Amino acid sequence: MTAIRVGHLYPDYLNIYADRGNIAVLARRAAWRGHELDVTALGMGDAVVPGEHDLYYVGGGQDREQLLVAEDLVAKAEALREAVTAGAALLAVCGGYQLLGRGYRGFHGEDMPGIGLLPLETVAGERRMIGDVLLECEFQPGEKRTLAGFENHAGRTRLDPGAQPLGRVLAGFGNDGESGFEGCRAGRVIGTYLHGPLLPRNGWLADWLLEQALAHRLGADDPPSLEPLPDELERRAHEVSAARARARGGRFG
Ligand code: GLN
Repeated sequence: MTAIRVGHLYPDYLNIYADRGNIAVLARRAAWRGHELDVTALGMGDAVVPGEHDLYYVGGGQDREQLLVAEDLVAKAEALREAVTAGAALLAVCGGYQLLGRGYRGFHGEDMPGIGLLPLETVAGERRMIGDVLLECEFQPGEKRTLAGFENHAGRTRLDPGAQPLGRVLAGFGNDGESGFEGCRAGRVIGTYLHGPLLPRNGWLADWLLEQALAHRLGADDPPSLEPLPDELERRAHEVSAARARARGGRFG
């Protein structure tokens, strides 16, 4: 049994759409493979100590909550950068994702600093982008998988040239409603607009994160492969969500 150490950033501020449900999924899927998830809250003023966590998680929030945590996150930026450079994994959702970039200009023009961990910038637009989303991801060449989720954001996120998106939008808006990209991935760091929460209906992504976290925990270059789970309910949940996204159509539908 290995204890996978998770640092949950700002659970009291960034948790819309029950984003913390993602942690419950990680804990359960780890337990089914005989591993324990050891979750620590990293709130305002708490220090991030590189090496102490294998996976960091930051949820979504309204502009108001983002504004409350942005400066504190900047104070943690250097330690977080050091941690992920040393191989820790990170999942950031929506409001948390925006703050991983260089900055976010909110709906009322508030300029919030980001921590520059991902090569992107976000500016809020007039119209909110709301609804079910379906993405196609290719983490390994030739290995395509879909992610289904829900988005609700005013922010338009632009990736820098050459930055890697999390996936290609099959239905929904994605980063900005124009580029056809959603999210961003850099090594073991993932940012995405998908919440709802994201992991219950996309078990493969939960396992990918656990595998990266285990690689960090064990000091292995290559992540171990977790044994597959039956995932019947998870697949059905994914299908319901994917079908809703396809029915929605829209710009990329
Ligand atoms: N406040 C941000 C926006 O509207 C993020 C919203 C969210 O986390 N759902 O773009």
